[in-house]
Amino acid sequence: MLTQVFETLESNVRSYSRSFPAVFRKAKGSLMYTDNGDAYIDFLMGAGALNYGHNNDFIKKQLLDYMTEDYIMQGLDLFTVAKSEFITTFNELLLKPRGLHYKFQFCGPTGTNAIEAALKLARNYTRRSNVISFMGGYHGLSQGSLALTSNEYNRKAAGVGLHNVTFLPFENNSGGFDSLAYFEMILEDGHSGIEKPAAVILETVQAEGGVNVASPQWLAKLKAICEKHGILFIADDIQIGCGRSGDFFSFERAGIVPDIVVLSKSLSGYGLPMSMLLFKPELDVWQPGEHNGTFRGYQLAFIGGKAALEFREQSGLEAAVKEKSAFINRFLHEEIATADERIRIRGLGMMWGIDLSGFEDTLLAKKIAQDCFKKQLIVECVGREDRVIKLLPPLTVEQDILEKALGIVHDTLRQHLGAQVSVQATLA
Ligand code: PMP
Repeated sequence: MLTQVFETLESNVRSYSRSFPAVFRKAKGSLMYTDNGDAYIDFLMGAGALNYGHNNDFIKKQLLDYMTEDYIMQGLDLFTVAKSEFITTFNELLLKPRGLHYKFQFCGPTGTNAIEAALKLARNYTRRSNVISFMGGYHGLSQGSLALTSNEYNRKAAGVGLHNVTFLPFENNSGGFDSLAYFEMILEDGHSGIEKPAAVILETVQAEGGVNVASPQWLAKLKAICEKHGILFIADDIQIGCGRSGDFFSFERAGIVPDIVVLSKSLSGYGLPMSMLLFKPELDVWQPGEHNGTFRGYQLAFIGGKAALEFREQSGLEAAVKEKSAFINRFLHEEIATADERIRIRGLGMMWGIDLSGFEDTLLAKKIAQDCFKKQLIVECVGREDRVIKLLPPLTVEQDILEKALGIVHDTLRQHLGAQVSVQATLA
């Protein structure tokens, strides 16, 4: 199928289709198929919305059964059986075993809408307006969330000033700058000139920002500072949550309990739009309807979300992710990083970055990703100047597909570096 209809009639704002200009028709598991039937390995995975793979059979069955019975599809925020079952399952399978006590707030279906809700809640609860965000952070592109997103290119499109946010350098991207010491200094010095914030918001692993992984120690220290000063800690788990870090919540590895958790993307399990806040019950200062929205009750998303949690339990997904993560980690360090000392590898769970910013060629990562696409592997570039290749396989990725994809990255990278291609026996 030709791409002309998109190129002539769809707005210039389209983005992913520029890097991956094929027309897709079908998808299953880790693969997407074009209109011509060509199979692509998808390591973009709906930018993190498809942790359980495309058209996961276990989840699909429950969605189809639900639709066959003509159960309610759109329910605003009415009480429904589907919502009740989702809340109960989430509470029983995830919150209770972790000793977490949270209230649920269902938001408009995109991540950015839940971020807007989190901001409003934190500001109304604390009666403060400033919020701390981190350089390299991505929290969405609506006005409030865009103010938290550091990327200059995105910010320029706002058309208005983006205020009430103070940025700090993130842990591993600050050239040794101790941003937590600076944060404490700001809070304690009456001459810092920076308003005491309502909240701190962060991704514990910055995804779009270049796969920057905060250490558990740093996260725990940040949380302790927040507690000491009565500042809310908001974990944006939209991309790194829902099992991608290895645990269901990305902050578990730091042993901290955020005041507010933001979830979306893979929450519905099937790529269906859904977003949600979890927050400590004492924060619930909302008046009825203050953060209203028509699409806060997409019932299929509740059904998919519940099925995804059951699938996670029944398929032993968490253990499988830890195994695959160790495999990727080893491969990237032993087979990729060894190609050149300027290559840096970062990641956790099933989100990995190959950082090529140490090379003179600013387009190297992009060229490699483009060549991977020619070999039918979809990988995205992220970070400053898009110089980090991000690998985002589904958590359910089959071992042979994982090895094939890593082999493509390996060969393409080595070809670009002009080095000898020496594919491991494991990839033969
Ligand atoms: N936060 C994070 C961490 C994200 O990765 C994204 C999307 N890339 C968002 C917020 C915004 O979500 P959405 O695109 O659904 O508005």
